[in-house]
Amino acid sequence: LRKEAIDPNKLVEGILKVNKASLGKAITLLESAKPEHVSQADEIIEKCLPYATKSVRIGITGVPGVGKSTFIEVFGKTLTNLGKKVAVLAIDPSSSLSKGSILGDKTRMEELSKDPNAFIRPSPSGESLGGVAQKTRETIILCEAAGYDVILVETVGVGQSETVVHSMVDFFLLLKLSGAGDELQGIKRGIMEMADAIAINKADGKNRERAKLAQTEFSRALHLYPPKENDWIPKVLACSATENSGITEIWNTITEFLDKTKRNGHFRLKRNHQNKNWFLQSLNQQLTQILQQNEAFKKAKKTMLEAVEKNTVSPFKAAREVLKIVHDQLK
Ligand code: GDP
Repeated sequence: LRKEAIDPNKLVEGILKVNKASLGKAITLLESAKPEHVSQADEIIEKCLPYATKSVRIGITGVPGVGKSTFIEVFGKTLTNLGKKVAVLAIDPSSSLSKGSILGDKTRMEELSKDPNAFIRPSPSGESLGGVAQKTRETIILCEAAGYDVILVETVGVGQSETVVHSMVDFFLLLKLSGAGDELQGIKRGIMEMADAIAINKADGKNRERAKLAQTEFSRALHLYPPKENDWIPKVLACSATENSGITEIWNTITEFLDKTKRNGHFRLKRNHQNKNWFLQSLNQQLTQILQQNEAFKKAKKTMLEAVEKNTVSPFKAAREVLKIVHDQLK
């Protein structure tokens, strides 16, 4: 990204004309930490926001090997065949640590990546999950302005990444494998509550029967949870990504969910709630950033850190002292 080559207005124009190169460049801009890029990216997002209205955002999670990329490939193709435009994004907390980024591998989603109506973007790298999440949220807006009507956000079940993806999507799909009976074992607490649907993948060949059993077991387990506020009862489905079976049923389930939650107002409610949280998180993040660059803050923090090390002040009092010094300075 050469500085002189960037014209935010041109990029917005390109995005609205569904130019993938412009979209890609704008995303690279917003992933950059350089201050001049940050303000240009802000301008682009601001201008795209009014056009980012008609999409559905779907989160997809599951352990490595469950078949996420194989699934997204066939699911994405199913959607483009229905005339939809599909964007695939990812949040991968491990990508900053290792090179094995979940969408980084070029051989993944080969068919879909060639589809003119699909756009695939690997996970941004970043030091914190919060930072990566913010970039993905902004990327969603740009993709929506570019007319992508289905946004798929993929994540692996590592750390808090599922919660983070859940906080930015309308529908959350959990992919599972059928095991040797103890289906519910080893499932992360909280993930069942988050799922709007569970799809048992690899329901093919010798696995077909086991998948059916798992489906029954998960359905039963889900019924034990209290009903959701949005009146949606999570569904359990079985599919095979390699045989392309059960995939349309998953899309039908999502459509049913959208119909229902749009009618009862919960679709809008959830998005509003997500926007408010997004605002509060950004505010916190930016406040911290501003503080950390403030000279009085840096100095007071250093002094107090030394005092804490010497045990001459309690950690709580030390923190209050730092903020008092900054506060006095701002008056
Ligand atoms: P990811 O790590 O969750 O993205 O999983 P991949 O999509 O890379 O798939 C892992 C392995 O499972 C690959 O060898 C796939 O070919 C295989 N696989 C994926 N989906 C299915 C399926 O529906 N049936 C069967 N039998 N194998 C599958």
